[in-house]
Amino acid sequence: MNYKDLFFDLDHTIWDFELNSKETIQELYDTHNLAALGITDFDAYFTVYSGHNHRLWDRYTKGFIKQEELRWKRIYLSLLDFKVANEKLAKEMSVQYLDILPFKKNLFPYTIEILNYLKDKEYKMHLITNGFETVQLHKIKNSKIDHFFTEVITSEASNSLKPHAGIFEYALQTTKAVLENSIMIGDNEAADIQGGINFGMDTIFVNHLQVTPSVKATYTITHLKELEAIL
Ligand SMILES: [Mg+2]
Repeated sequence: MNYKDLFFDLDHTIWDFELNSKETIQELYDTHNLAALGITDFDAYFTVYSGHNHRLWDRYTKGFIKQEELRWKRIYLSLLDFKVANEKLAKEMSVQYLDILPFKKNLFPYTIEILNYLKDKEYKMHLITNGFETVQLHKIKNSKIDHFFTEVITSEASNSLKPHAGIFEYALQTTKAVLENSIMIGDNEAADIQGGINFGMDTIFVNHLQVTPSVKATYTITHLKELEAIL
């Protein structure tokens, strides 16, 4: 296939969300001296947080709770598990979490190398991300990958979300890319891969976690270096 425009997802595909999130929570743990409140083991706290975050995200995606509730309750419930009942602190930390996270810089291994490789081969590269414009722009600027991308398509600007067709249509209009020469590269099977398939766009599933695939992407890789065999 003669690909010309590459559409990358950002979070969990090239920007290491898990690691950046963990660093942010560590920073908040230190700043607020949670050890002094009796939460003496950061790893134990992080494990509890991850559990609540995962469960509340599931409720959020199913429409049972609003984004605001997800944001502070995942912290509130984590503190509560360590017998710290402090809604004010949880709300303060949830605001700071969102302020700090976009400034973290961890990328998946080989991100810069593969983006240079693809740039040298004269592909046009863009992002399609279900995120807020300013947050996503901070992430790519701070991790020094912004110059690789011609267009950054966000759900905010397109008024649509992957896997819906609206954001893909908006992406083609904005970039003047041709569907047949475009490919979507992402980690999320429901949003990136099924979204691409529904829209008729080829897809590359970036399976960092090495899960058993549930949808049939055009290609599947487990490490960004493997893109060199495809593109
Ligand atoms: Mg993603």
